[in-house]
Amino acid sequence: MGMRRVYALNIGTRFYSTEQNVNGGTQMKVEINRARCKECGLCIHNCPKKCISKSTELNDAGYYPVQIDDEACIGCGICYTVCPDGVFHVLG
Ligand code: SF4
Ligand code: SF4
Repeated sequence: MGMRRVYALNIGTRFYSTEQNVNGGTQMKVEINRARCKECGLCIHNCPKKCISKSTELNDAGYYPVQIDDEACIGCGICYTVCPDGVFHVLG
């Protein structure tokens, strides 16, 4: 597995990523740890692109973890910020 770089900066109530500021978010990727998701829905409701949805396969904890439409994702990192269970990793 390659080295991961997290660019997330939480400044007050607003969220920025350095990569997004430089490249308009087009090069960001978000990784999901399916095992941690508890279906609270916070990320789904807060994603500005509405590109997060529940998957149809249960994780080991008995929840349907979220999935991301990578084509629509702009790498803003809001999902990373709002998730209480550390499901998301914003990758460079
Ligand atoms: S990084 Fe932004 S656009 Fe991409 S899934 Fe998360 S909240 Fe949605
Ligand atoms: S905010 Fe986290 S725990 Fe809640 S649905 Fe999204 S990924 Fe799952």
